[in-house]
Amino acid sequence: MLIEGVAAATSAAVLGTVGYGILAPRSQFWGPVIVRGDASAPGRVALTFDDGPHPEGTPAILDALAERGVKAAFFVVGAQAVKWPGLVRRIVDEGHIVGNHSFDHHNFGIFWLTRYWEDQIARTDRVLADITGHRPAWFRPPMGFKQYHLFQAVRRRGHSVISFSRRAYDGVPTTPERVIGHIVPRARAGDIITLHDGMLTSTTRTLHAASLAIRPVIDGLGARGLAFARLDELIAPPPYVEELKTPEVARSQQGAL
Ligand SMILES: [Zn+2]
Repeated sequence: MLIEGVAAATSAAVLGTVGYGILAPRSQFWGPVIVRGDASAPGRVALTFDDGPHPEGTPAILDALAERGVKAAFFVVGAQAVKWPGLVRRIVDEGHIVGNHSFDHHNFGIFWLTRYWEDQIARTDRVLADITGHRPAWFRPPMGFKQYHLFQAVRRRGHSVISFSRRAYDGVPTTPERVIGHIVPRARAGDIITLHDGMLTSTTRTLHAASLAIRPVIDGLGARGLAFARLDELIAPPPYVEELKTPEVARSQQGAL
């Protein structure tokens, strides 16, 4: 009885650890994950947007960012980029960065193996490189999933995994007030903040919440003395693969992966 209890408690702890490893934004269980930026730079945070591009979210957010002079990073879904390449072009033309957020953003991607993830990452890299001329080197796992096969694929593709330290919880129906409440009072220097400019067919999120919240979020953080950096100013790995490199450099980078 006692032994059964201990076994049950142990397996619960193991399951808990694995669950944390897979889902928690900060988990480093399966491999290195960038969660926060450099907090030593005085009071700077970085805005990131996931799941786009989408005509109901991305243009309004780009307008607000341009108005406030803030540069952000957009973690783009490959299938969405194929539908709206003009929006991807606009993101890059206006000085923002695009990262890779998988091709399909499959809700059950957690169960897939290395080959699936490599394909998801490679297809999205190709689509974004064709549209923008830059091949992404940052990957943000869909739904924050982290598991062994995904990290194998990321390593083979030579990407860095970028998570976040603060989120708007706007992946579900919400209001601009709630989005502001999750971010403005809580953000700290070095935070990587995540909102959504896109929507997947399987979700019921309200895209206008983030686009209506973005000006008050920028102004509110500014009033707290925080400034904005583009994500590549807060973290070490460059956002894009250097296209022009000598074979020696390419080989040494390959060896370092
Ligand atoms: Zn996503």
